[in-house]
Amino acid sequence: MRLLLHTCCGPCALYPLEAVLEAGHEVTMLYLNPNIQPKSEWQRRLDNVKIVADHYKLPLLVDDIYMEDEYVRRAKDEDRCLFCYGFRLEKVFERALADGFEAFSTTLLVSPYQNREAIIERGRALETNTLTFLPDDWRSGYRKGQEAAKTLGLYRQRYCGCLPSIEQSRFKDEIKARHQAEASLDQADRP
Ligand code: SF4
Repeated sequence: MRLLLHTCCGPCALYPLEAVLEAGHEVTMLYLNPNIQPKSEWQRRLDNVKIVADHYKLPLLVDDIYMEDEYVRRAKDEDRCLFCYGFRLEKVFERALADGFEAFSTTLLVSPYQNREAIIERGRALETNTLTFLPDDWRSGYRKGQEAAKTLGLYRQRYCGCLPSIEQSRFKDEIKARHQAEASLDQADRP
């Protein structure tokens, strides 16, 4: 099938790509992650996804939608992740439909840390007669993918993506320090 694979980051893409390519799908990757903040992190994860696309010689589409204010506003919202899955899947679906794909899916399904049932429910709700949501369970390959990411020299992030999720990471001090250093460098570079 012609498959549009939503790609949340490089490391999470590796195992699902092995699986869908082995299954014979014709794959296009799509980076569409308005949830990843700050912008330097959004760019860093995209740079990694480009390395993966080059590695597998696959086409990569990029949607530069970025919604920091929306996620900060939803920081205390218990359903923040449901909104996040739903919003991204809807946009992926729209792109897949417009470009004539036969199936769509997301590399989020490799992660044992994401809400698999909610992702599948959202994906299935969008299906049409001509566009299928692929609900494959790639979680058994999560560690394998992370090891492959190390071998490829990919950056492996330590938080899900939005600014509120940094607060939930046990590495939050390290992450914040890095982001602060990047922001200072960015300021210093300005004329
Ligand atoms: S924690 Fe992750 S899935 Fe949940 S809203 Fe933030 S970026 Fe999205």
